[in-house]
Amino acid sequence: MLDYGHFIGGKHVKGASGRAGDVFQPMTGEVRAKVAFASKAEVAAAVENAKAAQPAWAATNPQRRARVMMKFLELANRDYDKLAEVLAREHGKTVADAKGDLQRGLEVVEFSIGIPHLLKGEYTEGAGPGIDLYSMRQALGVVAGITPFNFPAMIPLWKCAPAIACGNAFILKPSERDPGVPMMLAELFMEAGLPAGVLNVVNGDKEAVDAILEHPDIQAVGFVGSTPIAEYIYGKGCSAGKRVQCFGGAKNHMIIMPDADMDQAVDALIGAGYGSAGERCMAVSVAVPVGQKTADILVEKLIPRVESLKIGPSTSADADFGPLVTAAHLKKVKDYVDIGIKEGAKLKVDGRNFKMQGYENGFYMGGCLFDDVTRDMRIYKEEIFGPVLSVVRAKTYEEGLKLANDHEYGNGVAIFTRDGDAARDFAAKVQVGMVGVNVPIPVPLAYYTFGGWKRSGFGDLNQHGPDSVRFYTKTKTVTSRWPSGMKEGAEFVIPTMK
Ligand code: NAD
Repeated sequence: MLDYGHFIGGKHVKGASGRAGDVFQPMTGEVRAKVAFASKAEVAAAVENAKAAQPAWAATNPQRRARVMMKFLELANRDYDKLAEVLAREHGKTVADAKGDLQRGLEVVEFSIGIPHLLKGEYTEGAGPGIDLYSMRQALGVVAGITPFNFPAMIPLWKCAPAIACGNAFILKPSERDPGVPMMLAELFMEAGLPAGVLNVVNGDKEAVDAILEHPDIQAVGFVGSTPIAEYIYGKGCSAGKRVQCFGGAKNHMIIMPDADMDQAVDALIGAGYGSAGERCMAVSVAVPVGQKTADILVEKLIPRVESLKIGPSTSADADFGPLVTAAHLKKVKDYVDIGIKEGAKLKVDGRNFKMQGYENGFYMGGCLFDDVTRDMRIYKEEIFGPVLSVVRAKTYEEGLKLANDHEYGNGVAIFTRDGDAARDFAAKVQVGMVGVNVPIPVPLAYYTFGGWKRSGFGDLNQHGPDSVRFYTKTKTVTSRWPSGMKEGAEFVIPTMK
């Protein structure tokens, strides 16, 4: 059995707290590894290493820092298949989907290679008599990232690549459910020439997270995970004086207008609703057909497609999706289906009793489809995070828009239509951070920013793109004047440009 410790000061270290957890292989249900849970002292050791390494790294010119990113990219591409297989085995998603997880992370590494350009400041010559004014962006120091189970390559890379490229040292606390890939990524960064101590991985649970939030030498914390934890980390981190951004849960709606191409809409719902077993923060979990006729056609087309979804082990080449991450999460998702039935929603496809032949202990379930879900039901209000799609019928476009706007989450949303006016109106009025027009999972590319609104995001700046550089640096503005430009005598009034 594998034994994950921590990665501190450029090398693997064994856990010393005496506390550890199990990492499962969801497709078989077996325990694949033990993962150490860091104590406060182990987090402090990682911070010491990071603090020692950071000044020299920040003083390394940005082109050299970019070259480390380039080399890392080359090595990650060399090990692509190996990384994807470990990811699939620990998470449960298919290998093909694991490759996408890795790829969307590497695209942010590609973005971070532009750091010499991204860090350029501003300069004004002659801002006053003999006065020049300029601004620069400087690294914060030691920063940390706390990441969820569902994208164990992508989100750690979204966090650490821009932070490190900016000249910070980084402490990563990945999910304790699938820490294998984050550990491999840290090794690859070392092989790429990143100095020891610039990237450290501490595994663990709440104790490690609290140690990060309480450590006075950690300047900023980026979090991705569920909303209750996001809110906790945002509050605790901010009150400790840190810069904090937290991205939380989601309930993503897809509005289907009567003029939409229904076959395309169904394809989109099947992929975005059930891909990765619905364990994506940008999964579509609510379909909102506008008008009874649209709803009837949609549900009739969806039923056979949900019934014929191919569920298989993560290593299967032709599975649409694999098992869920743990037995506990599987139970939680099935419980939500029970709740939906009790609440009066119509379960059109029931995947609760699906068993995978030859993998009877794996954490599998089939796709579920609910019709006639209403806004007061728990299955509508709460994030299920499984292969369960709810159809909420809306009479009008305005009602569909209002549903998305009234929901407490505001991560992603989509509209399917051929009507440019409707799409434009929707994009302007919807209270959600990421909007798709005939695109069901509108995850922006690396050079734009990613972030939800309302209770899907806490903090001012988004992830990756230009906001990541703003989040991981602080701006300094210098006003300079040389002796030849200075007048004699003290100035007692505030200088102005009058
Ligand atoms: P989670 O909140 O359970 O865990 C996230 C991280 O927080 C992990 O590293 C975990 O160890 C830590 N953590 C868990 N409980 C804690 C506690 N009590 N105190 C301190 N730290 C704690 O989330 P998850 O189940 O790993 O991930 C799924 C969730 O993440 C879903 O809600 C999903 O929508 C969300 N998510 C959001 C985005 C986004 O960008 N908005 C992206 C991916 C996932």
